[in-house]
Amino acid sequence: MNQSRSEHIEYLLKKAGFKACLEGEEPDIVVFNTCAVREHAKNRAVSIIGQFASQKRKDGFPIILVCGCMSQIYQKELLHHVPNIDVLLGTHNLEEVPLLIQKRLEKQKDTQPQLAFWSKPEGQFLETGYSRKPGVSAFLPITYGCNNFCSYCVVPYATGPQRSKPMELILEELQKILEEGFKEVTLLGQNVNSYGEDLGLKWGFEKLLENIEKLVEERPSRVWIRFITSHPKDMRESIVDLVKESKVLCPYFHLPIQAGSNKILELMNRGYTKERYLEIASYIRDTIPDASIGTDIIVGFPEETEADFQQTLEVVEKVQFEIAYTFAYSPRPKTRASSMVDSVPPQEKKRRLLELNQLVRRVYQKRVEKLRGKTVALLIDKQEKTFSGRTPSNLRVFIESSVKNSLKPGDMLLVKITDIRDGKIFAEKA
Ligand code: SAH
Ligand code: SF4
Repeated sequence: MNQSRSEHIEYLLKKAGFKACLEGEEPDIVVFNTCAVREHAKNRAVSIIGQFASQKRKDGFPIILVCGCMSQIYQKELLHHVPNIDVLLGTHNLEEVPLLIQKRLEKQKDTQPQLAFWSKPEGQFLETGYSRKPGVSAFLPITYGCNNFCSYCVVPYATGPQRSKPMELILEELQKILEEGFKEVTLLGQNVNSYGEDLGLKWGFEKLLENIEKLVEERPSRVWIRFITSHPKDMRESIVDLVKESKVLCPYFHLPIQAGSNKILELMNRGYTKERYLEIASYIRDTIPDASIGTDIIVGFPEETEADFQQTLEVVEKVQFEIAYTFAYSPRPKTRASSMVDSVPPQEKKRRLLELNQLVRRVYQKRVEKLRGKTVALLIDKQEKTFSGRTPSNLRVFIESSVKNSLKPGDMLLVKITDIRDGKIFAEKA
């Protein structure tokens, strides 16, 4: 999400006549687009911005601009931690970035930073224009903000209510992305399943996917479409059905469960039970056997007992997630959970995280073992020691060295899985 927003900021700055520095050049302006979702992200950002801010040249350059979720949440408090910030703005004022920099340049001797924050939600989400680096994959935001107020999460406070991008604008953006030659497009939103609800659309996400499918199918070359994140409370069988029937939608569902105990799910205000989650996960497994399911899990949420944690492990065993991002709970400002007692000690959170990660790895290895000998489609997107790419179901596959010379990033080909070593999947051209 932040990478995509940074691409939008770069677009706005270039439009206003600024240009990106080349490697090794000294910048006149440094833009920090920050995240506040976990305490760790915030601490790292403060430390990195502080480093840059303390190395300003005598002429006051580079100008330091900080925007994004962290500055939206902490606002002026951040200026105490990092006093050398020149421009500080939140999450909804990105269009003002060039103007605020211009103002700062005009008042270079003035030590007062330029500030801009939103106080009430804006109208429609009409963000358009992204300066994407040429490559294989592109992001396309379809919503911004979130209405769900999961009790641990700062995102709704930092980004405001969900606002959906009008469908025509998304299709226009997609058209541009396709013309730029990208092979894979990921639609972004905190809860893509609720796309369009704020525009008064019923089944808006299905309609959007159908329109995207029509547009992409008319193209001569193949393009894959993905979407993240699916919220289990709004995930529907009809979305799975659409993916099953589709030639362009990839069968990867990022469906964060967060916890396996109904007590914790309720305290988290997630809006679904473990049983409903398992039902939709089985529907995915039964309908599209080659699909992958990814997830996010938090351990050590307030009041999570060992028994609750064991239920999370049981769900991981049952669903056999191909991908899992796991986190130790950290209290975030303004959230409901931050007023609860953070009852699980840090050492215990660490232990649970370790145990969970070990299980996630075991489950992944067991699941991918089934791929041995199979032929799968691959989109090559990396060239390191060897070429690698991802399958439609989002699994990374490494190409055995014999064919690598005839490949390049962006190639789509059929490969045969030859080996699985240490959890890494290897293949050769089919
Ligand atoms: N919209 C997505 C999640 C966005 S935040 C969804 O609903 O699933 C990305 C992930 O960060 C979350 O899924 C959660 O697992 C993690 N996260 C958010 N707040 C957290 C907190 N306070 N402590 C630990 N992990 C957190
Ligand atoms: Fe945060 Fe929940 Fe919204 Fe995801 S759905 S961004 S976890 S409040």
